[in-house]
Amino acid sequence: MASKFQVPRGTRDILPGESERWDRLESSTRDVMSRYGYREVRTPIFETTDLFVRSVGEATDIVRKELYTFEDRKGRSLTLRPEGTAPLVRAYLEHSLGQVDPLTRLYYVGPMFRYERPQAGRYRQFWQIGAELLGPGAPAADVEMIDLFFWILRAAGLEEITVHVNSLGDATCRPVYRERLREYFAARADELCGDCKERLKTNPLRILDCKVPSCQPVIRGAPSVLESLCDACREHFDTVRAGLTALGIAHETAPRLVRGLDYYTRTVFEAYASQLGAQNAVGGGGRYDDLVRDFGGPATPAIGFSIGMERLLMATGPLEIGAAARPDVCVVARDPSATWEALKFARSLRGVSRYGAGESLRVMVDPGGRSASAQLKWASKIGARYAAFVPPDPDGHPVRDMEAGKDEVKQESADSLRGWLLQRRGSAPQEAPR
Ligand code: AMP
Repeated sequence: MASKFQVPRGTRDILPGESERWDRLESSTRDVMSRYGYREVRTPIFETTDLFVRSVGEATDIVRKELYTFEDRKGRSLTLRPEGTAPLVRAYLEHSLGQVDPLTRLYYVGPMFRYERPQAGRYRQFWQIGAELLGPGAPAADVEMIDLFFWILRAAGLEEITVHVNSLGDATCRPVYRERLREYFAARADELCGDCKERLKTNPLRILDCKVPSCQPVIRGAPSVLESLCDACREHFDTVRAGLTALGIAHETAPRLVRGLDYYTRTVFEAYASQLGAQNAVGGGGRYDDLVRDFGGPATPAIGFSIGMERLLMATGPLEIGAAARPDVCVVARDPSATWEALKFARSLRGVSRYGAGESLRVMVDPGGRSASAQLKWASKIGARYAAFVPPDPDGHPVRDMEAGKDEVKQESADSLRGWLLQRRGSAPQEAPR
């Protein structure tokens, strides 16, 4: 139906039918996070602009072209968060979370904002799930992180997961590699796109991440970072791969994997889902051993990942409006004077208590003051299993099986009907989750 207004470019509405899938993804995520001992942090969706410029990196696409930056009424420069790690590290330091547990395990779920060219699986507001482990620098921390990453994806229903891993080296060996790359690309600058010519000056590693087709042959011939790793970084990377193998996590070494943010050191990883194609990672992460210190904190190694929720949902089913929510029962007022009774009866059937405990029944009422036959028609349109009538007959409330179109035994009270419905549901064949 026409409206004068549309959703802003690059954003989307999450509608009923789809929102239940989001709910399930969030629940499975929170469940797995909690099993691994990760606890949630909710940071503001905007931060001071500096936080992102200094961490994500001035030469990255995110900072150069994609930030939603604005001034508030006092002239402070603020930015809608384009990613979740920098805000979490800020909060970690601001609240001294490292003192509560020197191995700090944190996670977040929330929207991120990047001014990107919208296309399938690429939005200007998109959601991420992310986890960060701050404190341990040992390779086993990388393995735990990738294991968690893998099981979050698995619990969300993703079947075929390919994890790519690489090492970007550290402050000792990365400059050596960067120089080798610069020399290699400088000799072939004519074959590079305009952006890559620029990256050659600012950060040649970024060229490896370029998606422009004409750059690909040059990128394929570039020297591998693995040949430039110092002994410590090589050993770290070998141990991470051995750990992944020991845990049975299928992985491939991907020497061109660099990721789009500047703060990574040593291990980086990404996951691909066969449904999304090779261009679109479902998630990725890496080690960032220098970021906490760069923010003014003590030297604290750390590693984390983020997963794009739209991409994960696209990889596990279609993103579209689903069917109406099927009620277990619709309460039908036989007469407009029974409206309050219908609402009250429905409330008793739902069984909501202070802590929301007890089995849940979905109970709906047509509050439109329409005839009983119109209410029944509506109940049937939305797929109600049963209809229950108020006020009751002398021998109880009539209950109609909507699918079979026949009346069942009358029920004396809301309580007895509730018990009867729950029992029916318990013995009914398992339906698809809704
Ligand atoms: P990044 O923070 O760039 O490492 O991205 C991590 C994950 O977030 C990616 O693998 C995607 O799944 C998702 N993602 C990043 N940018 C977007 C976007 N513009 N739209 C949708 N998902 C995105």
